[in-house]
Amino acid sequence: MSNTVFPTPPVVSVPVRGRAERFPVRRIYCVGRNYEEHAKEMGHSGREAPFFFMKPADALLVVDAGKTGRMPYPSLTSNLHYEVELVAAIGTGGKNIAVEAAMKHVFGYAVGLDMTRRDLQADMKKQGRPWDIGKGFDDSAPIGPIVPAAAAGDIANAAIALDVNGITKQNSTVTKLIWNIAETIAHLSTAWTLQPGDLIYTGTPEGVGAVVAGDLMQGRIAGLDPLLVQVV
Ligand code: MN
Repeated sequence: MSNTVFPTPPVVSVPVRGRAERFPVRRIYCVGRNYEEHAKEMGHSGREAPFFFMKPADALLVVDAGKTGRMPYPSLTSNLHYEVELVAAIGTGGKNIAVEAAMKHVFGYAVGLDMTRRDLQADMKKQGRPWDIGKGFDDSAPIGPIVPAAAAGDIANAAIALDVNGITKQNSTVTKLIWNIAETIAHLSTAWTLQPGDLIYTGTPEGVGAVVAGDLMQGRIAGLDPLLVQVV
């Protein structure tokens, strides 16, 4: 018998390649402007300390292997942008994690999209207000299956790309991260205590742009399951 005043909302979880058990999600951290060419296209120098924002865990749009997720075009925007990102899934928590120890905290990796209501984000930036309405809306965090780190290959050197309707829009490599995976985990863990179930969207390379209803996005990172999402 539950003692809650309404049924407890389910814990959002992501499938894991090769496992029957799923990865239960606690928090979603995102890194801003973590590829130099993307920082430049957004009007910044490309060199700054890492900064972070969050999305609610239930903003995930979980897409199983081989399936195409359906993302409803969100309200309040006329400039919905894609950002393909490597997602690191934390399996072991900690705080003040050393860079040298950081990779041991990673359970696995997935392809994610940091979908952004760019017009609202730009407006909030201009006013010095929080980004939540531009970043943390429903279905704003599509994600594919998590691949255990040992099975993901050389993820630090993997190609990362995004196609829209079969045309490549973003095309880079994870080596171009300004703050690499270990450094990002180390920085994050000075500000928050990381816990198992945390996801880190590590930032997007250059080439971001808008999608409209009907567009089919395919995010790709070598070694991981591709992520297919159609805007509907
Ligand atoms: Mn992003």
